[in-house]
Amino acid sequence: MSAFVGKYAEELIKNAKYIATPGKGILAADESTGTIGKRLSSINVENIESNRQALRELLFTAPSALQYLSGVILFEETLYQKTSVDGKPFVDVLLENGVLPGIKVDKGTVDLAGTNGETTTQGFDSLGVRCQQFYKAGARFAKWRAVLKIGATEPSELSIQQNAQGLARYAIICQENGLVPIVEPEVLTDGSHDIKKCAAVTETVLAAVYKALNEQHVLLEGTLLKPNMVTPGSDSPKVTPEVIAEYTVAALRRTVPPAVPGIVFLSGGQSEEEATSNLNAMNKLDILKPWTLSFSFGRALQQSTLKIWGGKTESVGKAQRTFLERCKANSDATLGKYAGGSGDSLASESLFVKGYKY
Ligand code: 13P
Repeated sequence: MSAFVGKYAEELIKNAKYIATPGKGILAADESTGTIGKRLSSINVENIESNRQALRELLFTAPSALQYLSGVILFEETLYQKTSVDGKPFVDVLLENGVLPGIKVDKGTVDLAGTNGETTTQGFDSLGVRCQQFYKAGARFAKWRAVLKIGATEPSELSIQQNAQGLARYAIICQENGLVPIVEPEVLTDGSHDIKKCAAVTETVLAAVYKALNEQHVLLEGTLLKPNMVTPGSDSPKVTPEVIAEYTVAALRRTVPPAVPGIVFLSGGQSEEEATSNLNAMNKLDILKPWTLSFSFGRALQQSTLKIWGGKTESVGKAQRTFLERCKANSDATLGKYAGGSGDSLASESLFVKGYKY
């Protein structure tokens, strides 16, 4: 066990294990002010604090939905917001329903000098102090997104190493301050590569990430991994969930130590249906999987809810029922028990955006 995590070791292990409870997963509602602005503008709603609060309140107070979640990732503004109905802090609403509040602590990506448009993630300035403040405000886990792309010569060795070192540094700083780090090395789906190429890149990236986590003495039992699923590039023909499941689980088995309690996938522009079906297929695979395989979806948990809401008070109830349906579907998928699509065309809409920034 890492001797460097100090007083929080037991708590980190307990919380990471709890988040990885089979049947539960994470809602990623940590869109930065800029990103949520894009979502809101897609439904013609103005990007002002009261509208951002209203969307998050809709999600967090959706009747019966929180039973399927073990964590919600928040953006800093949301961590301190309250419900409009009774002024209850969102953090309390979540905790009372058995959901741990999480916090996005990275500050987005910037170009990595010396590469062909690859990126590194910012956010190290006063990271330790910010983690302490977020812990005090009730957060128990954190997220940091590193981004890698597939190209003729990408990801470069430089970007693989820089991003792996960055994730490890972020992870140990979180652990020293009581937050379970979600380690997120996202290999973007952009491109015309086949699934084998995505598998090879994902394996190389994950191997570098776990080497760096080890070198920086991160307590793996107190972490979670948030990877991309292994899929063909966005400009290539699609393959079935069973094929995606096979390649994804193989890549993870080759690189992710069993000490890690849970792997919570990002949706990365997949439609709601695709993301759920792929997760379900993975959990149905008859092969040893030493970690829980679950979800930490942003777009694939919110898209139809957002459209149905449309910023209208009278549509809140219907939007909440849609959100409940998606949460239940993904909960079933963590158990390999998802029975399949509702035939809802909204849930099948592709959410892919080229060069997506979170
Ligand atoms: P998507 O599921 O929309 O890809 O987002 C998850 C996330 O938190 C990315 O950092």
